[in-house]
Amino acid sequence: MAVHIFIILYEGSAWGCAERLYDTYCIRLLLEQKYVFKIFCYIFNCETQKKERKYSMARTKGKLKKLRVIPLGGLGEIGKNLTVLEYSDNILIVDCGLGFPNDDMLGVDLVVNDITYLISNAEKIQGLVLTHGHEDHIGGIPYLLKKMNVPIYGTRLTLGILENKLAEHELGFQPELNCVCAGDTVKLGLFEVEFIHVNHSIADACALAIRTPLGVIVHTGDFKIDTTPVEGEMTDLTRFGQLGKEGVLLLMCESTNAERPGYTPSEHKIAESLVRIFDLYKDKRIVIATFSSNVHRIQHIISNSVKFGRKVAVTGRSMINIVSAAVELGYMNIPEGVLIDVSEIKKYPPEKLTVISTGSQGEPMSALYRMAFNMHDKIELGTDDLVIISASAIPGNEKLVGNIINELYKKGVRVLNDSVAEVHVSGHACQEELKIIHALTKPQYFMPIHGEARHLYHHKELAEYMGMEPNRIFISEVGKILEIGTDGAKFNGTVPSGIVLVDGTGVGDVGNVVLRDRRHLSEDGIIIVVATIDTQASDIVSGPEIVSRGFVYAKESEPLIEQIRMISREALYHCLDKGVRDWAQLKYKMKEDLSKFIYSQTKRKPMILPIIMDI
Ligand SMILES: [Zn+2]
Ligand SMILES: [Zn+2]
Repeated sequence: MAVHIFIILYEGSAWGCAERLYDTYCIRLLLEQKYVFKIFCYIFNCETQKKERKYSMARTKGKLKKLRVIPLGGLGEIGKNLTVLEYSDNILIVDCGLGFPNDDMLGVDLVVNDITYLISNAEKIQGLVLTHGHEDHIGGIPYLLKKMNVPIYGTRLTLGILENKLAEHELGFQPELNCVCAGDTVKLGLFEVEFIHVNHSIADACALAIRTPLGVIVHTGDFKIDTTPVEGEMTDLTRFGQLGKEGVLLLMCESTNAERPGYTPSEHKIAESLVRIFDLYKDKRIVIATFSSNVHRIQHIISNSVKFGRKVAVTGRSMINIVSAAVELGYMNIPEGVLIDVSEIKKYPPEKLTVISTGSQGEPMSALYRMAFNMHDKIELGTDDLVIISASAIPGNEKLVGNIINELYKKGVRVLNDSVAEVHVSGHACQEELKIIHALTKPQYFMPIHGEARHLYHHKELAEYMGMEPNRIFISEVGKILEIGTDGAKFNGTVPSGIVLVDGTGVGDVGNVVLRDRRHLSEDGIIIVVATIDTQASDIVSGPEIVSRGFVYAKESEPLIEQIRMISREALYHCLDKGVRDWAQLKYKMKEDLSKFIYSQTKRKPMILPIIMDI
């Protein structure tokens, strides 16, 4: 049976109306049940001039039936979370984070996702929904907004942090930020997104239930299940359970702690432990470094300080930013007169002070780093101090954190970190918590997200252990398309994806060649040969002069430098005598002769940069 639907509109009623009609459930259902092949729209205008237009939504039934799930970041890696959901002509983006460069990306400040796919489908994008305000979920937004203006939806704190970040970028327009609360639902094209309260190491975090024409997708964002959070409610497990009862098509669940058995301890544990520490070290100044976004923990540190009669100073740019945003938005409550400026700390005895600082990841030039290496202009650390590092080192940062701890011990500072005291808990769910979410949502399909390959595979194992059939579990990759239809789910093709390096203010102007050069320079240094030649007379007019950096200490290596000069000279004359005038050839010959010689003498391969000028 084939049905044709005719929609008759009069001029003045916008095409949007037709679209809304089309959205109505019954038409969609008919389309999906293969009853409708075409929808025709007719428009009459007042002059009775009949216009017939085939509305673009008329399409074959097959094309409408697939839901596409495309991760553009956050899989096979920690950070840069970005998921694209696509159905018909509608795209929904979930989170847009950034990553931090690896050791081999010299001088690169940030890494963002390649969003070519979004740029080429910009007109389909209905909105960007945010799970929470961590950098790996919102940090890439300024770079996305520079390419396109999309409406953004997030909770109050998430948007507050985002606004601070956007203020540092010149966009040239006011982005559309829509504030939502946990429990709210927003309709974005064919998608309906419900925000669900979860516990995490930042306040106002949400999971998402995304209604699509094919069924509900549950996207957990980052979460844990904390039955005794220091502030607010426990993760809304009831809602997950209700969704499970209604039927969940796809569960996309974070995998950060999928290797860890048991439960992640409650933030309450840390609160208790901090009280003990404050009590035990009454005679010391306490300096605490933690993640600036962990608003609840910072609030607890401040409340503790008030209880123990201490003033609080905040140091480090991101800490000051977030504390002021959180106070402004009412997420923190600090009694009058408790907060003092770092420049005032000399007025108070050490035991009456708490300093809250950035640098818990050992970041060079962060406030804690500067304190440890005597570079902080206001705070000097010594035997009167206790430093608490209330964080665990993110993989890759262990060495940086270790350096700071060693430096502090050398100064006689007492240090407490997560390997010697209970000063940090993770914000991510461990295996038992993940199992609870699987058991409640009972999804038809499952895609582990947010994690390196090993986390994703452990999460897959966990789902199988709980009885899920392996062919319903999809370990995806960045750029890979998972297609879900009424007849099943399968991987089907890829979209352009990858990373873009942000170096200072330049986005994407650092590529592999630049990185290779930087690596080369950092390892073996550079030799610059400058010579002026007269091509007419086939003679060298001045030079060659040799300048070297990072290669050998020039003063102690006069003979070597002199030899390099002689070889450059010979190479030049060799070419000029043979009538070679081509710059590229001159440079090539010089480079070749020099690198052979330098390698034979030093076993090193500095970058050689000949600069030849003609008079
Ligand atoms: Zn997070
Ligand atoms: Zn995250």
